Amino acid sequence: MKRVNEKAKALASSMKDISEGLLGKLLEGNSLGKNLEPGAAERLLEEGANGCGLEDCARCGSCKARCPLYDMTGNEAFSPRGRLMLLRGLAQGGIPPSEGLLARIFSCTLCGRCDVSCPVGIKPTEFIYRGRDALRKLDSKRLLTRTALRVGLGRPALGMSAARFITGFKHDLLRRIVPRLPQGLNIPERQLKSGHQVITPKKAVGRVAVFAGCAANYLMPETGEDLISMLLAAGYEVVLPGGEVCCGMPLRGLGLADEAGKFAEKNLEIFGKLNVEAVVSPCSTCAYMLKKRYPELAGGAVDNAMDAVEFLLGADRFKPGPGMAEKAGPRLIWHEPCHLKYGLGFNAGPFLRLLNIDKPEDEGCCGFGSFLTDKETSQEMLSKRVEVYKKDAGIVVTACPGCRIQLESGGLKTMHILELMEKAFPVSARQEKMAG
Ligand code: SF4
Ligand code: SF4
Repeated sequence: MKRVNEKAKALASSMKDISEGLLGKLLEGNSLGKNLEPGAAERLLEEGANGCGLEDCARCGSCKARCPLYDMTGNEAFSPRGRLMLLRGLAQGGIPPSEGLLARIFSCTLCGRCDVSCPVGIKPTEFIYRGRDALRKLDSKRLLTRTALRVGLGRPALGMSAARFITGFKHDLLRRIVPRLPQGLNIPERQLKSGHQVITPKKAVGRVAVFAGCAANYLMPETGEDLISMLLAAGYEVVLPGGEVCCGMPLRGLGLADEAGKFAEKNLEIFGKLNVEAVVSPCSTCAYMLKKRYPELAGGAVDNAMDAVEFLLGADRFKPGPGMAEKAGPRLIWHEPCHLKYGLGFNAGPFLRLLNIDKPEDEGCCGFGSFLTDKETSQEMLSKRVEVYKKDAGIVVTACPGCRIQLESGGLKTMHILELMEKAFPVSARQEKMAG
């Protein structure tokens, strides 16, 4: 019996080699003629989440059925299954690094649909991130982007000043001592020696911290203010910790795990120690990074990190004003951030009716996830979204500043769901909550 099993394994293994070999041969583009750096192949072959490694892929294709890149290209090598096969071949030496291979590994939007589809428990994105780490030194195409991000995120005030100059936004959220307060409320605020800002309502029901993230801090401060306003209105003391740095996702996506790890360690040191009910972010991707991806980067997670929508809607901390569901105006269409649904596992669907938001006929990824690594793919995915949302007309509502940037670049009118919720939360309810 043992011998039969061994033969079956050997046959399965040789079939894997054949299909990987074929997939490798179909890659276009020049071979890079270079080898991976020492240790990179071993790292690729290490077990990941749930004790699963590249060898455990059963080739069932469940992940591929949900991949937006496979849907768009119809090409196996652009599917999660294909990428895992290529990475296995790369790690074992059967597939050499080439331009075609880089294109497959860096075009993925890291949406995470494949991570929730695998019956074996494999998380394909984990290996795609590792593949990017392994290939980064051979990848001259994205060298400039990596350098710019290293410099820009290392000195965010400078980098974002440039971004603000271009976009016309005026101020940083975290630099303002007094955020815009809910109308009709007079909430005292104080600055602590630790560098944290703490804003306390008259009668607090709990305490939360805000992880603003680069986009809400520097480019869309009004979104962060809407969040603070709503947390105060719901009766929460709000902590804005000093020293927050980028969540690290842009660096991680480019294969710069070491640099992203340094950002993760810094945030973990600040946010991991706070005595708060939750660390709430107006950016789904930031919350996902803090909670789900920090363990592989920094050996620990901000376990109580949550997307703002998840915190406010999911636990019934938000009640829209009467008549909100019937309110007239432009049609509101929901754009689901991938990292909210597939990364954090929060389904906003049941709450959308409360806010008069419709779901589109066809849901999908906006492509922002590959904006820095494969602009062409990112634009193709955006075009598809623009086509769908233009057909549905109205304003596109979402929970991720990154999705907003992407969708607006495609000419769509967008709004963060927190803005809508802030408007919908009646002042009278806030006053009642704050009374006494
Ligand atoms: S993360 Fe998304 S785009 Fe990338 S392989 Fe998985 S499903 Fe496809
Ligand atoms: S769903 Fe899992 S086992 Fe099936 S092909 Fe994808 S990674 Fe492999």
